[in-house]
Amino acid sequence: MRAGSAAWTDRAAPGGAVFVAPEPEPEGARIRFFTRLGGVSEAPYDSLNVSTRVGDGEAAVSENLSRIRGALEGNTSAWVRQVAGDRVLRVAGSGLAGEGDALVTESPGLPLVVAVADCLPVAVVGEREVAMAHSGWRGTLAGVAGNAVREMDEDPADLRAYIGPGIRECCYEVSEDIAEGFADRFGPEVVSGRNVSLPGSVARDLEDSGVGEVNDLGLCTGCRTDLFYSHRMEGPRTGRNLAAVQRLPRGAG
Ligand SMILES: [Zn+2]
Repeated sequence: MRAGSAAWTDRAAPGGAVFVAPEPEPEGARIRFFTRLGGVSEAPYDSLNVSTRVGDGEAAVSENLSRIRGALEGNTSAWVRQVAGDRVLRVAGSGLAGEGDALVTESPGLPLVVAVADCLPVAVVGEREVAMAHSGWRGTLAGVAGNAVREMDEDPADLRAYIGPGIRECCYEVSEDIAEGFADRFGPEVVSGRNVSLPGSVARDLEDSGVGEVNDLGLCTGCRTDLFYSHRMEGPRTGRNLAAVQRLPRGAG
């Protein structure tokens, strides 16, 4: 495995939705880690919240999703009811795919999305397929990112993974039991005292799965509540950020 060197840039789509993307972007695919900026929701959900399950209004969320769709070539996304597990769903069209925490597709143009507030979004790009995983502490321990890689019908050595904004070791103290679980599963280097590195753990899982290149964008949601929602820092009354990956139709982009 190579450690990729992608940095990140932030940009606003024409409708106003602000996202961060890897720099450089992978060829033939788009990755959009949407921030909390550029939407219409009011505090404490300001402003590009995508969840109605946190107390925000339907009309605001609907407008936010419409702005996000505009930033995804107008395409409607495929999504899952996230349950913090390790199940991967292969999809060919938009809409709710079922219960699970990762999606894989070979359909050009179809965005795969997850909603997060501290949990890591992990995008994987291959020659023909893309995948997106939602990896919080439970999903990370269960190996959801590695499962997504194994569901892809590609040589893992050709895959590039992008670990998006999420809570990092600096802001993520957990119970002794959970910290021990991470050290047992991924090695002592992912734990410091009771602070756990979710990105380090996911990178190890991807490496063990044979992924050719792993890029960690290095953004901490706990440190950057100006850009992202953070459940740990802001409590339950905060929004959810959307993360999206889509393979571009041949000849586009
Ligand atoms: Zn932090």
